[in-house]
Amino acid sequence: MIPYGRQEISQEDIDAVVSVLVSDYLTQGPAVPRFEQAVASHVGVQYALAVNSATSALHLACRALDLGPGDWLWTSPITFVASANCALYCGAQVDFVDIDDRSYNLCPDKLAAKLEQAEREGCLPKIVVPVHMCGQSCDMQAIHELSQRYGFRIIEDASHAIGGKYQDDFVGACRFSDIAIFSFHPVKIITTAEGGMALTNDRKLADQMALLRSHGITRDPEQMTHEPDGPWYYEQVALGYNYRLTDIQAALGHSQLQRLDGWVLRRHEIKAFYDQALAGLPLTIPWQHPDTWSALHLYPVRLQLERISLSHRQVFEELRAQGVGVNVHYIPVHLQPYYRSMGFLPGDFPLAERYYAQAITLPIYPGLSEQHLQRVVSVLTGVLGP
Ligand SMILES: *Cc1c(COP(=O)(O)O)cnc(C)c1O
Repeated sequence: MIPYGRQEISQEDIDAVVSVLVSDYLTQGPAVPRFEQAVASHVGVQYALAVNSATSALHLACRALDLGPGDWLWTSPITFVASANCALYCGAQVDFVDIDDRSYNLCPDKLAAKLEQAEREGCLPKIVVPVHMCGQSCDMQAIHELSQRYGFRIIEDASHAIGGKYQDDFVGACRFSDIAIFSFHPVKIITTAEGGMALTNDRKLADQMALLRSHGITRDPEQMTHEPDGPWYYEQVALGYNYRLTDIQAALGHSQLQRLDGWVLRRHEIKAFYDQALAGLPLTIPWQHPDTWSALHLYPVRLQLERISLSHRQVFEELRAQGVGVNVHYIPVHLQPYYRSMGFLPGDFPLAERYYAQAITLPIYPGLSEQHLQRVVSVLTGVLGP
């Protein structure tokens, strides 16, 4: 089976990991800050905090922005559940904004309309989480303008998007947001096995997230309420977690980062190949906004089902049966049973639901060979053919 995504591990990666294994620190050593500084300088942001998953990064970001009971967080229904769950961890409530039909990202016009209504009803969101679907940035300038007008904060869920650009900046530079987060799960652009990162230009938010990453414990006398009892002294000043990344993982991430830009270029070559090879088939290829350079984490096609004799599910099953490990990204979050139990219903976000009914993610990752690519196209052509 050709998977839809796969990590690349080189001898340099293995050597980097082994060198940590035989060093003094497996965790809380020098590899973590080294990885953080390398990512921060690559994307052009001031502070970067490595954590054990993007889910943890989202949670820390919400906590640092003081999300709590009575507050609302809005995000896109076309995302992984973690983009919304972070609000529930904080006791806040979640709502969604439907997608743009071309980019599959949270639609700024629908956001504007929903904000206008929420203002009238007195339930404006505290945080909006734009998700850079497939690695293509949302329209951050428009979302940022709305945040200025309505006073909400912005966490970019850039789990798909390290190595991508928006206008002149790398995603993660936080020009139009408070915090951005990356995921380093193996299917994403670079990996630390499990892992994530929170990025910000705001010193206070960075300090707060650093505190909460490690139990809410500080060794900084400035943050303490008492004079230190002695050199061993630390204080717990907030309720935090253990969300630390290990040095083993950070060394892998640092090594992977050296190949990031080449990998994104390779993903664009694969996209160009698919775009051309699939042009005659009854499907819609991913659209790219001229302001963006996508990291191309995913390449979803939308089936034009009225032109195909098989159902969405039959196409999916046929591709899998013939060794093409397609997937679907994503089941709209509001349709998950856990969210339906909060009152969300089918029909609430029609563009997201229609997208879900048509979308199939094709394999895309740097190690995909020409032979595999030809195979994906010939199987797909056979399945969709007349
Ligand atoms: C993968 C992903 C996450 C969660 O990442 P983890 O590192 O697995 O916690 C969150 N949001 C989106 C959009 C993702 O794709």
